[in-house]
Parts: sequence; C-alpha cells; structure tokens
Amino acid sequence: MSAHLLTGRERAKQLQAELKETFAQLAGESSAPPTLAALQVGIDAAAAGYVRAIKRACLRVGIAFRPVELKNDSSQGDVQAALGALNDDGTVHGIMVLAPLPDQIDESLLLDGLNPAKDVDGVHPLNAGRLAAQRRPYFVPATPAGGIRLLEDAGVAFKGKKAVVIGRSDIVGKPMALLLLHRHCTVTIAHSRTQDLPAVAREADILCVAVGRPEMVTGDWIKPGAVVVDFGMTYSDGALKGDCEQESVAAVAGMLTPVPGGTGPMTNVLLMRNLLDAYRRSVGA
Ligand code: NAP
Repeated sequence: MSAHLLTGRERAKQLQAELKETFAQLAGESSAPPTLAALQVGIDAAAAGYVRAIKRACLRVGIAFRPVELKNDSSQGDVQAALGALNDDGTVHGIMVLAPLPDQIDESLLLDGLNPAKDVDGVHPLNAGRLAAQRRPYFVPATPAGGIRLLEDAGVAFKGKKAVVIGRSDIVGKPMALLLLHRHCTVTIAHSRTQDLPAVAREADILCVAVGRPEMVTGDWIKPGAVVVDFGMTYSDGALKGDCEQESVAAVAGMLTPVPGGTGPMTNVLLMRNLLDAYRRSVGA
C-alpha cells in the first residue's frame, strides 16, 4: 500500500485567495486596516524565521503586520505593559505572543492578560475553555484547525473512529484531541510518559503526531490503512523533517500528511482566518 498524500499547499493557496478577497471587500467598509501584532521578547532564530513567515502570510492576504520587539532582559512588568498597550490599541485586531520567552517571564501570567478577543492563537484560558466545553470558541489554535481542515477536505469519516494523538501541548496536541472528540472519535492522548507507545499508536484509525522528534514514528507503529497527520516540523541534517518516517509510514497508512507541504502551509492561513474573525467582530462586519 502507498498512502494517499494529504498535501496542504494547494488548499492553503485556495483559502488564501478567498481570504484576500474577503479582506479587500471589508477594507472598503472600514477605515482601520486589519492588523496583526506579534510580541517578541529577545532574539531567537526560530522565532525570527516564524515572524518572517507570518509577515509574508499577512501581506499576501492584505493584513498589516506589526512586530513589537522587546529586549531579552525585559521584566515581567515591561512585557505585560507592552501587551496591555496592544490590548488597548483599537487599530490592532489580533495579537500573538511568540515563544520562547526568556526564563524571567511567567508565560501563564502573561497570557492570562491577553485580550481574549484578540487572541488569534487561541492560547488564552477563555478560548481554550470554550473549545473544551464546545461553546463556540472564539479562536481554535491554527495548527490543529488546519489539520482537521485537511482531513475534512479529504472526506475522512470521524464518527466512532479510534483516534490517537501523540503530544499534549496547548497549541497542537490537546486542541487536536478536542477537535477529534467533538467529531465523535474515541480519543486517546499519548505523551512522553505513555507506556508502549507503538502499541497505542497501532490501535489508531486516525493517528496525529505532534511531538517534535524527527522520524520517531515508523511504519510498524501504523495500523494498515490508518489516516496519519504529522504535525512535526524539525530541521535535522539540513532538511525539514516530520515526526513520521515518511517512507515506512506511507507504505502502511491509507492517508498521510507529508512533511514538508502537509500541515505546515495550512497553519498560517488558518491564523489569518482567525484574524479575519477578530477583525469582523471588532468592526462589526
Ligand atoms: P511541545 O510543546 O514540545 O510538546 C511536545 C509533546 O510531545 C509533549 O506533550 C510531550 O510530552 C510529547 N513528547 C515528547 N517526547 C515524546 C516521546 N518520546 N514520546 C511521546 N511523546 C513525547 O511541542 P508542540 O508545540 O506541540 O510542537 C510539536 C511539533 O509540532 C514540533 O515539531 C513543532 O515544530 C510542530 N509544530 C508544527 C506546526 C505546524 O504548522 N505543522 C505548528 C506548531 C508546531 P510531555 O507533555 O509528557 O512532555
């Protein structure tokens, strides 16, 4: 068997074109251009690359991008004040707080102070809680939202299927598990303390992996015909690698998101989609 590859690039381009058109229509109705702010504390090569990618994604659909850079030795008070200013700024519609934050910053305390209406990453407890309680969340984190969109577009049936999500971060694993649960999958969340992980993975009709350990999952972890969503993105030996060993997993799975070109391209577009929701609510459109 060779898995059908669920590629995100074309779908992301299509969604991007739709967003661009919608933002252009809305621009005529409001004087404030849609604006996304990214708060970065200190210099980090990975975060800087992410900022460049977000900036490009914003420009492609007609969103203004406002980076806010603070020094690495900024205090908790400095960072909270900068975030507070963005919260209060009526010309800013979405705010991202970039990871990693320096050790002196209490991330939870900081994120508690983010305006939930501008939380396009879905990291504020109110948005996370609404997702968990299935009460029309303001914002679903973009990466799992993109993963689910790829599965839905491919016509994957969810109801009654056994789903295993490896990874329990607040931005990928946990919300992905909730999105699958809300679609009536029977969901297992696995993590670094899970015993006999390959056996747990082998039970999955839908296996989602968000760990950050390149090529950890191999073909012998996969139930024949399973749908595999690989969120992993790690640079290793000069190449971008997923959490799945592509060749051996593709030989057993029925569907697989490739790396690169699978879930990655969807993430930024779904982030822009969240910004559209924030903008619409802000301008009443
Ligand atoms: P994270 O916060 O570091 O979480 C990693 C998760 O993996 C944790 O829950 C951890 O378990 C678990 N884990 C670590 N080692 C494990 C092992 N040996 N066996 C089983 N579970 C293990 O990472 P993240 O932010 O969720 O990101 C995960 C991956 O997705 C990374 O490669 C990241 O670059 C990628 N990512 C991709 C996109 C995209 O657009 N596709 C977006 C964001 C992130 P514990 O909780 O027990 O520590």
